[in-house]
Amino acid sequence: SEFIVGLTGGIASGKTTVSDHFGALGVNIIDADIIARQVVAVGTPTLKAIQDHFGNQAILDNGQLNREWLRNTIFAHNESKQWLNELMHPIIREEMLLQCQQASSIYCILSVPLLIENKLNALVDRILVVDVDPKVQLARAMIRDGSQQSIIEGIIHSQCDRQTRLAAAHNVIDNSKGLHQLNSQIAKLHEQYIQLARRS
Ligand code: ATP
Repeated sequence: SEFIVGLTGGIASGKTTVSDHFGALGVNIIDADIIARQVVAVGTPTLKAIQDHFGNQAILDNGQLNREWLRNTIFAHNESKQWLNELMHPIIREEMLLQCQQASSIYCILSVPLLIENKLNALVDRILVVDVDPKVQLARAMIRDGSQQSIIEGIIHSQCDRQTRLAAAHNVIDNSKGLHQLNSQIAKLHEQYIQLARRS
């Protein structure tokens, strides 16, 4: 696809729920979280670079990345976090664009949880924000993940705030009510994006 719709929203806002709906309409979905895992799969140059930098402690016995070790390491050491981000971000960005180019639908959706936080606005033609009140995010995340309130609140506060996200949006999906309200919002946006993609 030449036309890329960037889908974003905070934790448990409903990005996956929304992208599943677009997927059912035949739109190709590219997911930054999936790509972030693909680029460090066993045998990739990126995994090799991580092993060379951090040593074998970064690798599990089965050859896969030791995510828990890496998460703890970058949490404790800012320079490690910076090194990893500088390695990963350009690789993920390039792979996202490649997969968007290869998408066969008239437009595609690039789902990026931290689109605004990581200033990836320029990568996409439109920004679509899934919006709910932070109280709803908290409740849905707690039900889904079974996590403590304080953990989820910490994640919500680490992400950009609702107003900043809404200010960056070309389109907003209100996901505060039941799932039935999504269909009509998504159908309208789908028509709009087809028109925009044809004209671009
Ligand atoms: P994350 O970025 O944290 O992975 P997400 O933005 O992809 O989350 P989803 O996984 O789609 O969010 O939704 C979060 C949870 O809320 C899921 O359990 C989902 O089933 C539920 N949910 C989504 N939309 C609604 C809705 N309109 N009503 C009730 N529950 C919903």
